[in-house]
Amino acid sequence: MIKSDLDNQFSKPLLQWFDLYGRKDLPWQLPREPYRVWVSEIMLQQTQVQTVIPYFNRFMEHFPTVTELAEASEDQVLSLWSGLGYYSRARNLHHTAKIIKDDYQSLFPTELKSLIDLPGIGPSTAAAILSQAFNQPTAILDGNVKRVLSRFFLIKGWPEQAQVKKTLWDLAQSCMPDLRCDDYTQAIMDLGATCCTNKNPDCLNCPLQSNCLAFENKEQHLYPTKKLKKVVPLHHQQLLVLYNDQGHIYLEKRPPTGLWGGLWCLPSIDKEDCPLDFLKLRYALQGNNPKKLIDFKHKFSHFHLEINALSIKIDKLNNQIAESTGQWFAKEQLTSLGLAKPTSVILSKFDADYR
Ligand code: SF4
Repeated sequence: MIKSDLDNQFSKPLLQWFDLYGRKDLPWQLPREPYRVWVSEIMLQQTQVQTVIPYFNRFMEHFPTVTELAEASEDQVLSLWSGLGYYSRARNLHHTAKIIKDDYQSLFPTELKSLIDLPGIGPSTAAAILSQAFNQPTAILDGNVKRVLSRFFLIKGWPEQAQVKKTLWDLAQSCMPDLRCDDYTQAIMDLGATCCTNKNPDCLNCPLQSNCLAFENKEQHLYPTKKLKKVVPLHHQQLLVLYNDQGHIYLEKRPPTGLWGGLWCLPSIDKEDCPLDFLKLRYALQGNNPKKLIDFKHKFSHFHLEINALSIKIDKLNNQIAESTGQWFAKEQLTSLGLAKPTSVILSKFDADYR
């Protein structure tokens, strides 16, 4: 299809629709500058707009510029991210802020390649920054855009499969207009989020309806093609609330990579281990018998984790526990730490039961 036809069938009606119905007052649009666009794009990965807004506002209150983010401690960053999940996003955000401060004098690069080279910034995020903050004609390809394009052009195949993805990237770039690149990017995201939704798309009110192949064929529900479902493995973990006479709680900092990387977590042991014997061996603690606290399931994208939490009152501390990877924290210190969601759930239950 030639460019002018595509403009007439896709970007023009989409921009007209955006002028009437698009979102223009999201916090990262006021003003639409690279630091705010970047933070919002990272927060919005796997997360809904309404969930992100309070996190974004809090983040901006604490770190209004990339320099202030770069100069923060990892714990400050992770504590403001607590609850959003996918914590590698926060660590990459922090790492990238330091690079932008040190290597780019706190100014965002304006070339796609330089942005993609930064930790945590993929091609779609880089394109979102360039189109929204610098008005460059670089197309994004997030989940909303994949859905709109695969329906409009009737593209078969799971969008994450390499060949299908390449086709969608090519189409995304072909549909990108030369002008109003910032509004167009927001428009296509908004259309996917509010009109061309996963279930029950509102085709009757869609600006692309007259040329949409999925609508013409009544096959909206078949696109994008779904991935074949895999069985999600279930793992088990036993987490321990170790507390002392003063009500202090013992937490361990996770290694920077892997599950809950860099966050403060409750000590964990294998389900088969007897907690008290294990702890005596590991920390040489004097402790009481463990008490059952709470059992629940926590879902990750690739597996589910069945968690059993126990609490154990520690009578006497010795040097060994202080030399391990953990620390004792008073209740009021916990709010300033980056805690994994299950840790917060367990500590809330502990708080309700014991304090
Ligand atoms: S007509 Fe329906 S399926 Fe096609 S783009 Fe619009 S909302 Fe999506």
